[in-house]
Amino acid sequence: MFKPEDFTYFDAHVHLYPERLFRAVRQWFATNSSWKIDYTTETDKIVQFLTEAQVERFFFFNYAHKAEMAASLNAWNYEVACRYPQAIALGTVHAADSELLGIANRCISEYGFPGFKIHTEVQRFSPDDERLFGFYEMVIENRAFVLMHVGTAPWANEHCGVDKFKKLMQRYPDLKIVIAHMGLFESEKFFELLDIYPSMMFDTAMAFGPMAELHHNWNPEEIAKHVDRILYGTDFPNLPYDYNQERLGLLNLELSKKDYQKIFYQNALSLLQSTKFFSKSENI
Ligand SMILES: [Zn+2]
Repeated sequence: MFKPEDFTYFDAHVHLYPERLFRAVRQWFATNSSWKIDYTTETDKIVQFLTEAQVERFFFFNYAHKAEMAASLNAWNYEVACRYPQAIALGTVHAADSELLGIANRCISEYGFPGFKIHTEVQRFSPDDERLFGFYEMVIENRAFVLMHVGTAPWANEHCGVDKFKKLMQRYPDLKIVIAHMGLFESEKFFELLDIYPSMMFDTAMAFGPMAELHHNWNPEEIAKHVDRILYGTDFPNLPYDYNQERLGLLNLELSKKDYQKIFYQNALSLLQSTKFFSKSENI
């Protein structure tokens, strides 16, 4: 079996927040969940940890949980991305933002972000919310992508689930989308959509980790069959377990070296190369 040290990584799912917001996020976990999270919230230390863990590049993001805070988060993300070339920022928007399209446009045109993160449960709007239609059209026109937490794990509300997501894809079948957490708890139903929507992918964050409530019996053949569509991601540093566990869970599938290289690195790089970000960047 391969070891984590055998690979270099592109972590497609990392969270960075301004310090005050990060403390609020951690407080939420402490109050509302049984998760015990020991990892640092400091940007510099998070980047250093990832570097030492052989992560050469990573997508990082946060999300505006209410209207009119996206612009300042995006400005902060841009500043962090400028400081660390290996940290590739995704933008945030909120469906209720009064300047939604202006905010999205700045992310793409001024900041050069390759994509956006949407978290339908925390942000409390549905993926097919018509206030987002112009945004999705801008994403498609600019070859950007959306990394979306729309699954029902670990917590859900009326804005989550594969049925809501299908409505979005029926309207925008060309939308480049990464479904976070392998679509748990409805992974099979999300997987069924892969044949219909060629630009749909998954990230692995927490889906192969040790948490009992997120346990899923993954079929290695099914993973190998869709290996070009799966991006390694972790949810670091909001993890109530050791960072290496996600890797070990994946390595337990005993896929080929080539398949692991795709999941751990190449697929995220290919996604990045398909965006405008790549043609602009001199760091890659
Ligand atoms: Zn996350």
